[in-house]
Amino acid sequence: MRPLSILGSTGSIGTQALQVVRQLQQADTGKVSIAGLAAGSNAELLIAQAREFCPRVVAVGDAGKYSQVKAALADLPIEVCCGEEGLIHVATLPEVQTVLAAIVGFAGLKPTMAAIEASKDIALANKETLVVAGHLFTDAVRQRGVQLLPVDSEHNAIYQCLVGESLGSVHRLLLTASGGPFRGYTGAQLATVTRAQALRHPNWEMGAKITIDSASLMNKCLEVIEARWLFDIPVDRIDIVVHPQSIVHSLVEFVDGSLKAQLGMPDMRVPIQYALTWPQRVPAPWPRFDFTRYPQLTFETPDAASFRSVGYARHVLEQKGNMPCILNAANEVAVELFLQERIEFTRIYDLIEQAMTHVTHIPEPSLEELLQTDAETRTLLQARAVTS
Ligand code: NAD
Ligand code: MG
Repeated sequence: MRPLSILGSTGSIGTQALQVVRQLQQADTGKVSIAGLAAGSNAELLIAQAREFCPRVVAVGDAGKYSQVKAALADLPIEVCCGEEGLIHVATLPEVQTVLAAIVGFAGLKPTMAAIEASKDIALANKETLVVAGHLFTDAVRQRGVQLLPVDSEHNAIYQCLVGESLGSVHRLLLTASGGPFRGYTGAQLATVTRAQALRHPNWEMGAKITIDSASLMNKCLEVIEARWLFDIPVDRIDIVVHPQSIVHSLVEFVDGSLKAQLGMPDMRVPIQYALTWPQRVPAPWPRFDFTRYPQLTFETPDAASFRSVGYARHVLEQKGNMPCILNAANEVAVELFLQERIEFTRIYDLIEQAMTHVTHIPEPSLEELLQTDAETRTLLQARAVTS
């Protein structure tokens, strides 16, 4: 049995991970058990999950929901805790071997870092943590000697393509992008899109934040940074290719010109299962790829003029230090403002660019300084969004 804690169990990734675990348990193939579950504020779903999977510990991030969760689980031998301390407790349970990091955004940073410090293997969905703290995160992974398995479909694809290969033989990584709902739009068209349009992703059903990131191509920007840290490869050897069908999940080009790709249906349960059962591959019942349904797989260059985010990854990685943290915090604030229908879509780019210009640059930030940078960026942008 591999005891697992899931951080963000009520989200899109969290619920799909529990589908995978349920299936593995029923088929008796994956040998995964649930030791801890943690979520933000969806108490009802967290309670239902706890009643089904009977973890030893459950944490609800929103301390205001503590008594509700505690009362609902009073008849079961489950420890209930709350707040950031509670999340960290679930991330560091002594019996846990693997932590699935599936909280969205910066909020996942401290619990995920705590899990690494406690020598847990990490199945990583929460890409923002690696964007914000790439150096500290990967140093900690190396020092603790833990496994870091990417759940993000592109990075999981690359990870699979690299099995049996040496990083020295890689020429470049090709991250595929669906292009989102606004592929082909001009900058002027982008400025007028609505919240409802932006939330309608053509191929994937995901949480609101990553769905907006996919529409702005900020998701691909974050993924380039994620790939730089996961595979220790310079940003000028990571390219983005738009592939609207989302069947080729990413590619590796080797020094001899060979390309390896990983293909499959756009279904996050596949990379989630790979990460949870690694190094084994075990059977899965999800829908399979069918060539007759996809007679054409097409590829195009991303439009970096309309989707200004395409150039940001290189910029922030060259600037180093806390610049990726500034980028991430600015994006989180801007996405939230767009979801509240307080700014138009292309203001997301404006606010990110303003933050990158105005927030204090720190060349070698500590974790504490990253927390300060995140706070400083949020304060600056909240003020600007109100005044503009
Ligand atoms: P989501 O919004 O559906 O779920 C987020 C989860 O995090 C929920 O369980 C929520 O309760 C929890 N959470 C949010 N804020 C919290 C806080 N402050 N404290 C504690 N818990 C908190 O998001 P998602 O789509 O599942 O995405 C999760 C992560 O996985 C993101 O980093 C995203 O980029 C990444 N990811 C998602 C997908 C996908 O298909 N959904 C694919 C690749 C990567
Ligand atoms: Mg992805």
